[in-house]
Amino acid sequence: MTTVVKKFGGSSVGSIERIQRVADRVIADRKNNARIVVVVSAMGDTTDELVSMAGQISESPDPREYDALISTGENISAALLSMTLISKGQPAISLSGMQAGVMTDGRHVKAKILDVKPQRIEKELDEGKVVIVTGFQGINTKDFNITTIGRGGSDTSAVVLAAALNQSECEIYTDVDGVYTTDPRMEKGARKLTEISYDEMLELASLGAKVLHPRAVEVAKENGIELHVRSSFESSEGTRVKEASSMEVNKPVTGIALKKDEAKLSIIHIPDQPGVAGKVFSTLADAGVNVDMIVQSTEQDGSNTITFTVSKDEYADASKVTNEVATALKAAKVDGDTTIAKVSIVGVGMISKPGIAARMFNCLGKNGINIQLITTSEIKVSCAIDESQGELAVQVLHAEFELDRE
Ligand code: ASP
Ligand code: MG
Repeated sequence: MTTVVKKFGGSSVGSIERIQRVADRVIADRKNNARIVVVVSAMGDTTDELVSMAGQISESPDPREYDALISTGENISAALLSMTLISKGQPAISLSGMQAGVMTDGRHVKAKILDVKPQRIEKELDEGKVVIVTGFQGINTKDFNITTIGRGGSDTSAVVLAAALNQSECEIYTDVDGVYTTDPRMEKGARKLTEISYDEMLELASLGAKVLHPRAVEVAKENGIELHVRSSFESSEGTRVKEASSMEVNKPVTGIALKKDEAKLSIIHIPDQPGVAGKVFSTLADAGVNVDMIVQSTEQDGSNTITFTVSKDEYADASKVTNEVATALKAAKVDGDTTIAKVSIVGVGMISKPGIAARMFNCLGKNGINIQLITTSEIKVSCAIDESQGELAVQVLHAEFELDRE
């Protein structure tokens, strides 16, 4: 049976008036689809406000209570939307993550959804109700404590629910009308893509294109669920995120992403011995620091310099841990730089075309942008550059790869 899963983001439910518009849209869609599940985020900046309140109490608030707090924004929007639908004559019910059967692991703040038991949702749908589910939250399997699945996680909630309900599509309504070649605020020539592959979207999402949560794209790919990203305010077609094999690819680069707020750490003159890199990065991993780009270079004296990037908000932790491990391993010192940005070109079309990386480096070079670190994957080339040149890099690369043209 077809059940349409629609996710509405924070700005789409940002006020009572907007919630009313969402309700009207859902009611209109009931004419085509009897069974509708709506996943909502918290209204506007609610989650940020809750986070800030917790921050006023403690720098590291108790994780269980933190999740109990920051999950509440979704309860508000879900109840308001359900209430609105009911007041307009449409039977509806709001369900919390717990009531909707969203089971996670035990980790707070970044919990992983392990399973969904959709019986309650199915029952309510069978009774003719529109079911509104709170995004972002679940409960852990062990003791049913409330967990949250990472900021921006409601997209993932929606896709997981679509999978649990055996659907092949999930609609994501947001405040932009689709996925663009790059951020239109940085580049006026940015174009809306009608389709993009999971892998490209995953790269762009991990690189900070905020339109979709990376985990949501992963889950969609794993379950073969096509994502349809569209505007909650306009009726335009949006962007479909799907399997690359079902797309026509004619350009080497599909999109360009800029990740600001990066930081760089270098461990200078660390002994060149087996196990050193393993020790450094396992220590960072144990401390929960996500390391991104890594480069090791050999010095003339036979020692190494290991340089890596982390996001700026993990810099303080990373720097502390790195200094400790550097001292233990008898490295000379640790240098840090918090003014780094990462610019990336992404495209499945580059798999079969040599020379794309060189074209990127030449373009940056010609424009006076110095490259500090480089990493590549099959469908991506990323360069760490100075933060102040980030937007320029996006603009010159957008032109270089002719992304403003069909
Ligand atoms: N409300 C949560 C957040 O702001 C989850 C979401 O919006 O997807 O991070
Ligand atoms: Mg949000």
